[in-house]
Amino acid sequence: MCDMPNRTFTDQPATDSSPSLPQNDPEPVRRIWQNLGLPGLIDVHTHFLPESVLRKVWAFFDQVGGPESAYDIGPAWPITYRYTEPERLDTLRNFGVLAFTSMVYPHKAGMARWLNEWSAGFSAQTPDCLSTATYYPEPDAGAYVAEAIAGGARIFKAHVQVGDYDPRDPLLDPVWGALSDSGVPTVIHCGSGPAPGRFTGPGPIGEVLARHPRLPLIIAHMGMPEYADFLDLVDRYDRVHLDTTMAFTDFVEAMMPFPPDHRSRLVDAGDRILFGSDYPNIPYSYLHALEAVVKLDLGDDWLRLVLHDNARALLSI
Ligand SMILES: [Zn+2]
Repeated sequence: MCDMPNRTFTDQPATDSSPSLPQNDPEPVRRIWQNLGLPGLIDVHTHFLPESVLRKVWAFFDQVGGPESAYDIGPAWPITYRYTEPERLDTLRNFGVLAFTSMVYPHKAGMARWLNEWSAGFSAQTPDCLSTATYYPEPDAGAYVAEAIAGGARIFKAHVQVGDYDPRDPLLDPVWGALSDSGVPTVIHCGSGPAPGRFTGPGPIGEVLARHPRLPLIIAHMGMPEYADFLDLVDRYDRVHLDTTMAFTDFVEAMMPFPPDHRSRLVDAGDRILFGSDYPNIPYSYLHALEAVVKLDLGDDWLRLVLHDNARALLSI
């Protein structure tokens, strides 16, 4: 979810990343993919950011929840993996995550190019991180998105609520065109959870898809809380996918439960659902994120697709 804040900088100390702590214990995580015969996991939704930006994100989550909270988006949100960058990478690799992303996203104009440069540099030094880029409705968006694709971007991230923009903005038309032509997908947070924005929900992005039906999208968080409407978009458009990020966890089910009567649709959409975690900015363990998906009990074949095979095919890993 990771609403990008524009708030005061707080320099919280990193917490302990020792593998002996329960949230870092790799064994129960590894058992899940090993028992499925998988070589590991692919996590399409992880956040590696410039350090100054990440600290601001953490400062934002520190203010979430409770009666004194300035942000009424739900309960308190303690970051489980508040570690240094090398420790965050080690922890993820210990879990057996073979490929992941550095989901960067701007909350205003003039940021995306800088974020893309940072992210390209990060993936160049971090071979298991898929080169990730972003965009914002601004006059040079089409140009820098084309540059990012030519430079090897494998995946994009967009955040309609944090960016507070209309995805139908004509400034994004060249972006949608370039992404449709190249087949490079965008993980897009466009559902109305945890907080709605002026342009969230299936309506605005649905109009974009009507104009660009080949646009490859991965709807973040299963589109929560408009799960059913976003499943409709999956049915309608071959290149629309969903990521499981935070969905089905106890944390989210308490606020925005997945509707049980749409459960069978998860099976039908089995080749379009990809595991994501929001690591490291999650208020529970990585194991819980995985177990939330496993506990859906939709079968081992379904799990192999969601935890690994769909992402490998879509992202040519
Ligand atoms: Zn996220």
